[in-house]
Amino acid sequence: MTSNTVIKLHNTKTRKKSEFTPIDANNVRMYLCGPTVYDRAHLGNARPVVVFDVLYRLLRQVYGAAHVTYVRNFTDVDDKINATALERKEAGAPGTLEQLVAERTEETIGWYLNDMGKLGALEPDHMPRATQYIGQMVAMIEDLITKGHAYAAEGHVLFAVDSWKQHYGALSGRSVDDMIAGARVEVAPYKKNPMDFVLWKPSTDELPGWDSPWGRGRPGWHIECSAMAQELLGATFDIHGGGNDLMFPHHENEIAQSCCANGDDSFARYWLHNEMLQVEGKKMSKSLGNFFTVHDLLDQGIPGEVIRFVFLQTHYRKPMDWTEKKAKEAEATLRKWRALTAGIEPAANAAAAVLDALADDLNTAGAIAEMHKLAAAGDGPGLLASARLMGLLSDALGEWAETPDFDLSAYAAQLLEAREAAMQSKDFSQVDRLKAAFVAAGLEVRMSKAGVELVPGPGFDAAKLEGL
Ligand SMILES: [Zn+2]
Repeated sequence: MTSNTVIKLHNTKTRKKSEFTPIDANNVRMYLCGPTVYDRAHLGNARPVVVFDVLYRLLRQVYGAAHVTYVRNFTDVDDKINATALERKEAGAPGTLEQLVAERTEETIGWYLNDMGKLGALEPDHMPRATQYIGQMVAMIEDLITKGHAYAAEGHVLFAVDSWKQHYGALSGRSVDDMIAGARVEVAPYKKNPMDFVLWKPSTDELPGWDSPWGRGRPGWHIECSAMAQELLGATFDIHGGGNDLMFPHHENEIAQSCCANGDDSFARYWLHNEMLQVEGKKMSKSLGNFFTVHDLLDQGIPGEVIRFVFLQTHYRKPMDWTEKKAKEAEATLRKWRALTAGIEPAANAAAAVLDALADDLNTAGAIAEMHKLAAAGDGPGLLASARLMGLLSDALGEWAETPDFDLSAYAAQLLEAREAAMQSKDFSQVDRLKAAFVAAGLEVRMSKAGVELVPGPGFDAAKLEGL
């Protein structure tokens, strides 16, 4: 333990902020629902990753890095993955559908880890893939059937919500009867209660499937997290996280499964949910044309560190609005802070005020406000240590801010010459061509009467100047 810091967290289960006390301070355990790996992570998918990365860093700071276990899963069995593989097969890709499914998940997991790494997210201690825990899922489902909480019907196994009716819905604050009244779903004939959810379902011959007591099939999504958390963290652990869009039905179903299998008081003690992300004040959606992936932003030259900083400016329980303006301001702040801390050693500890802000239900916005004060006071070492605690100003994330050591004077002279010629000929096409090429290479072109100045921006790529 490095400090006497008291961490307070808002627990969705109790709807209160309360002091966090781990079951075992020598092994603080946290589970975060990870992605379904069928495509690139969009910006909203990245928010929980960054939020819970900060919590992970805070827990490591307070309890010691060796005393925290963080699990984030990959859901690598899903209809959407199957659909993308089927599309590829129909487009003529070689291999069986099952092989194409495996290729797709492998590729997507690689993208995901790469993109999240660029946002400065540490890799969790365990990143289980659902397909590696099918045995544990089958065992848990069998146990639930034995205990009267689940039933098999037409190749499916369903969780019997009525068997746990008095507890079901407690996390999200709903009652089973209200849910049934509000449900507009078409009810499968084999369901005893319309709210019963799938633990196991049949698979066709060509799709991924596993042998089970109920025939060849695959697990439902919810049982994956219950089985993997149980295997890697035990029946009861400290923190379960996720976006608040997962609270119902996913987390509610995880609780039902795990508590019925392991005992009423088991499973996660603290539930943390982050709010959703918007773009320029609107919900991100494909139909609004404001849908983009983390990779899209990185590709546009927006550094991962800037994305991370913008995220952390908003408290995780508030909706986060991504705007271009915020990204520009974040970039300017980080550039200033990097200049202030260049070549110096961080202080031994993060500033107490920054640590206190983070310990107060992960008040990252408050922590950033404290860092602005440190910067204003010229406290480079304190700023650097505090920023590192939040996963900012690391060497690994800093490449974008380095001023490229590249002589641009010949290019500036070339543009100046072209402009002088154009003044005579009135043909500005060569000037426009050069300007466009410089901008495409990531340069800012400043033209005035006094001359031409070329300033490298964050995405500057000298290779793109070749041949001009
Ligand atoms: Zn989950």
